Amino acid sequence: MSDHAFATRAIHAGQEFDPTTGAIIPPIYQTSTFVQDGIGGLRNGYEYNRAANPTRSSLETQLAALEGGAAALSFASGLAAEDALLRGLLKPGDHVLLGNDVYGGTYRLLTRVLAPWGIETTTVELADTDALRASIRPQTKIVWLETPSNPLLKIVDIEQLTEIAHAAGAVVVVDNTFASPALQQPLALGADLVVHSTTKYLGGHSDVLGGAVVFGDDRFFEQVKFQQFAVGAVSAPLDAWLTTRGIKTLALRMRQHSENAQAIAEWAQSRPEIEKVFFPGLASHPGHDIAGRQMSGFGGMLSLGLTDGPAAARAFAESTELFQLAESLGGVESLIGYPSEMTHASVRGTPLAVPENVVRLSVGIEDAADLIADLDQGLARLSR
Ligand code: PLP
Repeated sequence: MSDHAFATRAIHAGQEFDPTTGAIIPPIYQTSTFVQDGIGGLRNGYEYNRAANPTRSSLETQLAALEGGAAALSFASGLAAEDALLRGLLKPGDHVLLGNDVYGGTYRLLTRVLAPWGIETTTVELADTDALRASIRPQTKIVWLETPSNPLLKIVDIEQLTEIAHAAGAVVVVDNTFASPALQQPLALGADLVVHSTTKYLGGHSDVLGGAVVFGDDRFFEQVKFQQFAVGAVSAPLDAWLTTRGIKTLALRMRQHSENAQAIAEWAQSRPEIEKVFFPGLASHPGHDIAGRQMSGFGGMLSLGLTDGPAAARAFAESTELFQLAESLGGVESLIGYPSEMTHASVRGTPLAVPENVVRLSVGIEDAADLIADLDQGLARLSR
């Protein structure tokens, strides 16, 4: 599969037809256990659902192929994937250096769940290479980044960061949820591991929760696989199957998400009610050139800073009709959110706090003109 283009891999990797019936779609193996041919006589290694399930294996093969990785593991949620990765790699006394604009749940996991077990976390503006170098300690085991970041769409040069982190002996983890592997493949840029909330673009239809860790090589696989097996936060067969189905249209969807978000960002730039547009596809974005080099499209996420402050931002988030007010992102339908009280409420009062005049849009694949008309009527309501 590795010699095929992305769109082909997304449809075929791990998706062999069922040999017993010829069903073109691999079945959902909705089973908890597997009959053994005598004690220890496992068929294709399958023993018990927490250890492995063929539907999950099929998704894991597909995920590894998408990111150009050696292997992948699929979990019940993005945070379950992050947790297994972190517990698999870290020991008490280790330090994690985190970008200062990441999903609030990642910060919460590190500072409230793992900190009591001796893991220290600090945050830094990763695009500032001097600050990055100064923040890496002898104990720094992991440098963790999102690019584009959530929710301010900051861009980090993955190749440059990886060189700096590797020189200091740290492992680089990229949360590739916002870009998806259709637009950015961090392992090819030197990163060691990729994580995903597959709940988002990979699933793509807002109907399943899931997460993944993708491995650039086999160094960390057994440690994380052990966490998955020993703790059991695996994706259920139906959830794995739904994610697999979503992935098959990822390449197409990401093109339309990106095109729609670009149109909205350009429209937003001209509106006096909006003082700042956070979108890497705009030439005015400080990370535009880097994003242009390391991504093959700018993605479907953008944030808007409202000129009239927090009250206007809250009112705008409640005034749209096609853009539904909800957490999450990456589905075919457009969503609007108010990060400081929704997705990022857990980081209020921390270095990751989101400006209170910011709304975040997950731009869907509806007609762009309809989406702009909806945002327009939302802004018009503010002045009434
Ligand atoms: N990473 C990013 C960038 C996210 O936006 C999210 C969820 O919003 C997560 C990780 C966590 O994923 P999940 O909600 O599937 O646990």
